Formats: sequence, C-alpha cells, structure tokens
Amino acid sequence: MKKRLFFLLLSLALLLSGCRLLPEVNVATPAQSDTAIWAMDTRMELRLYGDSTGAVMTDLTGQINALDQALSVTSASSALTSLNETGRSEDVRIVSLVSAAQKISALTDGALDITLYPVSRAWGFTTQTYQIPETEALDALRELVGMDKITLGEESVCLAEGTKLDFGALAKGYAADLCRRRVEDAELSALLSLGGNIQTVGSKPDGSAWVIGVQDPDDMEHFALTLNITGSKAVVTSGDYQRYFMEDDVRYCHIIDPKTLAPVRGTLRSVTVIADSGLTADGLSTALFVMGRAAGEALWRQRGDFEAIWMEADGSVWVTPGLTVTPGERPVYTVAR
Ligand code: AMP
Ligand code: MG
Repeated sequence: MKKRLFFLLLSLALLLSGCRLLPEVNVATPAQSDTAIWAMDTRMELRLYGDSTGAVMTDLTGQINALDQALSVTSASSALTSLNETGRSEDVRIVSLVSAAQKISALTDGALDITLYPVSRAWGFTTQTYQIPETEALDALRELVGMDKITLGEESVCLAEGTKLDFGALAKGYAADLCRRRVEDAELSALLSLGGNIQTVGSKPDGSAWVIGVQDPDDMEHFALTLNITGSKAVVTSGDYQRYFMEDDVRYCHIIDPKTLAPVRGTLRSVTVIADSGLTADGLSTALFVMGRAAGEALWRQRGDFEAIWMEADGSVWVTPGLTVTPGERPVYTVAR
C-alpha cells in the first residue's frame, strides 16, 4: 500500500494566518543571560545558557552588527552597496552568500533569486512607499534580473551592468550560522531569535526540548502550533504577513516570484523550514514560499534533509513526515531527528 507522506490537519480558525517564529518563554534558570538588539530591520533576542557568558554575548552582538553593516542594501557604506555600485566585490561574506544562493536557486528551479532588488524597489518594499509598478517598468527591469547575471570566482563576485543584489532572504540565516559556531566553540547552549529565524544551539540545561512557537498568520499574538526540538536546529518562517501592502483587497507581500516579477500570489500564508543550517533554512523557506506546496513537497522527497510546515489560506496545515504531531487545541510537533 502506498505510504501517505504528508499529513493534513484541518485546522480551526484559530490556527490560520501569518507566521513569525517566537521562542516560548522558558522558566528562568540561574545560569542564563538574555540580550535584545535591533539589527537587520528586526528585533533579535539572544539567550545564552551557562556560566561566564558575557564575552560570548558581546561577540554575538558584535558579529550580528558587523554583518548588518556589511550586508545592508540601503546603507551607503556597506560592502553590498559597494558591490551594487561597482559591480565587483571580494568580500568573503558576499562570496559565501552568493555561493549558497546559487546552490539553493539551482535546487529550487530559480525560486530563490538574489538579483530581485530593483524589482522589490519598484514595488516600494525597500522604502515602504508601496505602489503597483507599470508593466513596462517591470519589463524594463527583466534584463537586470537572473542568477546568470552573477559571475562567481574563487574569491570574487562580479555583476552584469545594472544588476543589484539583495541578501534579505539569507542574511539572518547566515548570521545564525555564525552565532551558532561561536556558541559551540564556547561549549555553551543558546536559543537565538533573529526576527523570523530561530536557532537552537546544543541542549537546554534542564534536559527538556526547546519549545518554538510558529505564529498564526492571522494573529501576531498567537502561535498556531509549537515545535519541540532537540539539539541544534534552525527554524525559519517566510510568510505573506511579515511585510505587505493592501490595495483593492489584494495583499501584495514582500516575496517576489522571479517568473512574474510580482509578489507571490498563491494559496500559501507561510512556510516554515527546519534544517541543520540557518542559511539553508532561510534560503529554502523563501524559495518554498515562491514554489508553492506541491513543488516544495517534491523537493522534500528528492532531498529529505529538511522538514517543512505549510500553512494554507484555507486554514490547512501540512507537514513533512519527519514531524510527529500531538493533536490538541494548539498541536505540538516534534522533530524526530
Ligand atoms: P525572507 O523573509 O527570508 O523570506 O526573505 C524575504 C526578503 O528576500 C524580501 O524582503 C526581499 O528582500 C528578498 N526577496 C524577495 N523575493 C525574493 C526571492 N524570490 N528570492 C530571493 N530573495 C527575495
Ligand atoms: Mg529566507
């Protein structure tokens, strides 16, 4: 008999809506320190477990702030702006990000495309002065867009004339990976919430699972479900409620379909990806949101190295089989590996 790979939960109205990942508030333990910072256009909350965490916390905030400065697409002095203006960069962080983006783009049939910056700008997502661009204006941008406009060398990145990159889909995941390495080197454990990106590192000192809430796309105050996670994992959500504008009752969200150069208009509200690498989880969540559920499931069957949760506009919630569910008013999903 054919094994059913995906579970459908017909959810309550309570379970519908946009998604942002927030850590559950845990019972405080004595050897724990918390810091909150604003970086990469979002609030980040860093929690370290263990004694003598001060130096590590300083390093984490320093690393995140340095990345924010280097990868900001709007700051005149960032390494990314320099690349976008001169067409060339030898910045190691930019080389790494472009290399990762090329791999994820190839896996996802081009759904992840870091050359969409001029298109996001035309829709007003970079300045919050939202507008629906003229078709001619988008057509004119088409020749600047495409991963084939990037030439990646061993230690350099070159762009075709007029092409501009944006690492909005990847930067927080990259930051999470750097932070995870620093925490592991110090033999500490951590729960890091970098906007919609959650990174767990190591084990919680009391031996219990990390509990991560996945947001209800319709209600920023509520989680639709919670995830129980053991060990180090990245949990990243992309959704249509995180940044959007409404016009004539149509929602235009910040994730652009590279095929149409328009905000994704499908039936999905959010996609959450759970993976070992923050960068992979971040890139995949954006790409899976573009691809839609059927293509995302096909990618899961082909790869099997991530888990995912799809929340649809009709309130249904779909998960990959690596997540086991404990039903309830707010279901609990446990990541099996
Ligand atoms: P995320 O929140 O990680 O899903 O990333 C969304 C951000 O990535 C947007 O705010 C844009 O800066 C950028 N972006 C939008 N569409 C795409 C896309 N198809 N591929 C790569 N980056 C995108
Ligand atoms: Mg992303």
